[in-house]
Amino acid sequence: MTIGGKDRGDPAKVRSASGGRSAVAARGSRLRLGSILGFEIDIDHSWFVILFLVFWSLSRVIFPERAPALGTGTHALMGMVATVLFFASLLAHELSHALVSRAKSIPVEGITLFIFGGMARTTREPDTPRDELLIAGVGPLMSLALAGLFWALGRVATGVGAGPAIATVADYLALINFALAVFNMLPGFPLDGGRVFRALVWGATGDRTTATRWASNGGRWIGTFLMVLGGLQALAGAPLGGLWLAFIGWFLRSLAQMAYQQHVVHDLLSGYVAGDFMSRDPVVIDAGVSLEVLVADHFMRARYGGYPVVDGGVLVGLVTLEDVKAVPRARWASATVGDAMTPLAGCVTLPPDAEMTAVLEAMSAAGAGGRALVMDGGRLAGIISASDIARWVQRAQWMLPIGARSSARGNRIGSGHGEPGGGGRGDHVGVGRP
Ligand SMILES: [Zn+2]
Repeated sequence: MTIGGKDRGDPAKVRSASGGRSAVAARGSRLRLGSILGFEIDIDHSWFVILFLVFWSLSRVIFPERAPALGTGTHALMGMVATVLFFASLLAHELSHALVSRAKSIPVEGITLFIFGGMARTTREPDTPRDELLIAGVGPLMSLALAGLFWALGRVATGVGAGPAIATVADYLALINFALAVFNMLPGFPLDGGRVFRALVWGATGDRTTATRWASNGGRWIGTFLMVLGGLQALAGAPLGGLWLAFIGWFLRSLAQMAYQQHVVHDLLSGYVAGDFMSRDPVVIDAGVSLEVLVADHFMRARYGGYPVVDGGVLVGLVTLEDVKAVPRARWASATVGDAMTPLAGCVTLPPDAEMTAVLEAMSAAGAGGRALVMDGGRLAGIISASDIARWVQRAQWMLPIGARSSARGNRIGSGHGEPGGGGRGDHVGVGRP
């Protein structure tokens, strides 16, 4: 089976404040595994649950049923091999998304394995329906190819008389990869099939918002259907499998809803530039000021959660509440703002005419305290915070009609539909089940 989409750090603030749900998997608790083809691979702690469940059900239930003549030790060994190859298959599915994304100049942050499968984390969505079709479609194709490969391996093993162990494992892997391909092709966001569906509607109508709404409605219907099906299955005497299915359905539903929210935020923001959103001429702090003074005179007196830092009149960085919290309280008297701040190189800096959709992407990718510094020819012109954007989006959502917005504004500013980088992130998730 398969599913898809999540994000991390401060960008989530923008989205969740806009009504989107951040109740998704995998945040902040990941272990790094290594890298393949230049992509960072990590695993969420929740993944160990599915690792255990897959291994246990294979070696204790599925293989003993399918190859009863073999001993418990052999079943355990088969379970181990099949589990490793199952997760390798998931990884190959995600790698195929990541490779095509990279070929289409969409940055890939990495690949994460989590309780429902895997996901390729990208920072933005494809620019054209064609790119979306290719990036989404390649995953199920990869799973289908793997199914064929394992099926052929099983036939060869049987043909040369290699005994039932290899053929049983290969047949299982063929079946699970086939199931992955089919499930992922269901036409609901955020499944790959939902993205393919969206790309087709988007390509046919030229209207990305409508396409996103249809695909996300599809995802909600599929999610609801799986929840009902899982509930019935649980009542019919398969509690574990039923609950698992219902859980996946619920996960799909929340992701579908969130994906549409992200798109709406993007649609509302498109056509605006950084200069429209920034707080002009913000209060700046001298790098030599102690943290104690910073807290007493600024953080405790004004509502701002971050300030640009200057040294001899030159902008050198940004200091936020989070930066201060990272320094032990006992050192606040001696440590300076310059010690605690995020240096300019680590901050998001943009010109006043940067598109707001690009600002959001940059803030999302950097996660630097949820703030961007607006620079006009080397001079600090203003500051943009994630919470300012979130408040504006919340207001705009019930004051402005969705969809009509960007085309109307497009006439004014000269960019409408089809601007680069559609609706938020483009993560591709693949979900598996033993
Ligand atoms: Zn996929």
